[in-house]
Amino acid sequence: MSGTDDVTVIGHFVDGKRVSGGSPRRGDVFNPATGRRTGEVELASAADVAVAVEAAERAARTWRDASLAKRTAVLFAFRELVHARRDRLAEVITAEHGKVLADAAGEVQRGLEVIEYACGIPSALRGGFSENVSTEVDSYSLRQPLGVVAVISPFNFPVMVPLWFVPVAVACGNAVVLKPSEKDPSAALLLAEWFAEAGLPDGVLNVVNGDKEAVDALLDHPSVRAVSFVGSTPVARYVHQRGSMAGKRVQALGGAKNHMVVLPDADLGLAADAAVNAGFGSAGERCMAISALVAVEPVADALVAKIAERMSGLRTGDGRRGCDMGPLVTAAHADRVRSYVESGVAAGAVPVVDGREVTPDGESSGFWLGPTLFDRVTPDMSIYTDEIFGPVLGVVRVGSYDEAVELVNANPYGNGTAIFTNDGGAARRYQHEVEVGMVGINVPIPVPMAYYSFGGWKSSLFGDLHAHGEDGVRFFTRGKVVTSRWLDPRHGGVNLGFPTQT
Ligand code: NAD
Repeated sequence: MSGTDDVTVIGHFVDGKRVSGGSPRRGDVFNPATGRRTGEVELASAADVAVAVEAAERAARTWRDASLAKRTAVLFAFRELVHARRDRLAEVITAEHGKVLADAAGEVQRGLEVIEYACGIPSALRGGFSENVSTEVDSYSLRQPLGVVAVISPFNFPVMVPLWFVPVAVACGNAVVLKPSEKDPSAALLLAEWFAEAGLPDGVLNVVNGDKEAVDALLDHPSVRAVSFVGSTPVARYVHQRGSMAGKRVQALGGAKNHMVVLPDADLGLAADAAVNAGFGSAGERCMAISALVAVEPVADALVAKIAERMSGLRTGDGRRGCDMGPLVTAAHADRVRSYVESGVAAGAVPVVDGREVTPDGESSGFWLGPTLFDRVTPDMSIYTDEIFGPVLGVVRVGSYDEAVELVNANPYGNGTAIFTNDGGAARRYQHEVEVGMVGINVPIPVPMAYYSFGGWKSSLFGDLHAHGEDGVRFFTRGKVVTSRWLDPRHGGVNLGFPTQT
């Protein structure tokens, strides 16, 4: 990395070292809390991507043979480095993404949990063995790495999302090319450096920064065997189609519109706390954020009042100042979210709290929008149909549990959902009936632990396998079954019949 004035040039990490200077195209990186440009990220060309893939190919040839003991030694060492330096990582996240430091630390923690899961890869990769499937014939199963895999990540979790995939892919014996979001690219480079410091051989993890050009190059490169993508639904759909057409294995996680259903018997105080936390944490820039609150009457008036009361105590400001909520990631995104607030007002939703009026604890040039609460949102309004990805929570009033489920299931997204109730039977019915991949019962952001798998349904995920946990191991390996007989002098003779068991 080199610097001119206060602006840092952010390059790539290829074959075990930082490389910079080769990419004529660059993108701007901002500190969202000040609005100032702090970095220029190099945007890789197809040729830059090819260099990284070639480095990964070379490394994959030997890394696939690294013992499980060697792989886990590297993962344990990496876990220690990330754990010891988690505050530094959180600062880097906050500086480019804007989320408050405590939230950034939480993101690092969730990433650490996946590294810890990958430390247990010997158990996850265990195959099966059957003795004497036929006389003196044994059969067993293996899972082997794919080779070179690509990981393409979004801006909203610059550490956690790469860590959903990279530790598992590497633990399974693959080499990785990671393409982080060009909006907050610095954290991925640190992760790659720390992995190298932990003993990962050169070329096993490469980072190319870039935009669509780099993504397309990865999707088209014949040596890339699999692609794990996380981002918005239109790009996820495109990545899945283009990667699949090129014969790759693809898991593409997309956008979301997460509903929280509040039944009349729920504890409204706890439900209001949860709605505020899940609606406005990370300024709503979470794929598991709650953006639609479905109030089953007669609770709406009381619930809206309790949420508004809690919102009056929220502090929006610079993530380094102990505020509750930070800025949005870019000026363009803040404008887009603000335009949704305007369209909600124009469509007749009731702005109970209007985030446009916020006084932030930060420089006026930051990308601010305060928490916004709309009541009486209807399903035809764009603030309901679209993923806004900002601090905008809309309350939809419905008359019954059945109406609530119908609404949630009619939505094209199916990432996460929550139900708040004290009725176990209703909760059980909801978990059974709802067409969503991750369900919370009195838990507003039901992100599965690393040893389960993360993923939504419908337009929130294209592909078959979810991230990390068992699905992650399956995604980054392919199965092989061996049938074996050790010949002894009793065997022999010619028989052209189809093999059968005896
Ligand atoms: P995005 O789709 O704009 O970008 C994601 C990645 O794709 C980035 O690396 C970007 O460089 C690349 N990209 C962007 N446009 C492209 C194009 N036209 N062709 C090829 N590549 C392209 O998403 P974002 O704004 O960075 O992230 C926010 C989105 O990600 C939200 O929709 C959010 O719901 C979603 N997300 C989903 C999950 C999940 O688990 N389902 C998790 C986190 C974020």
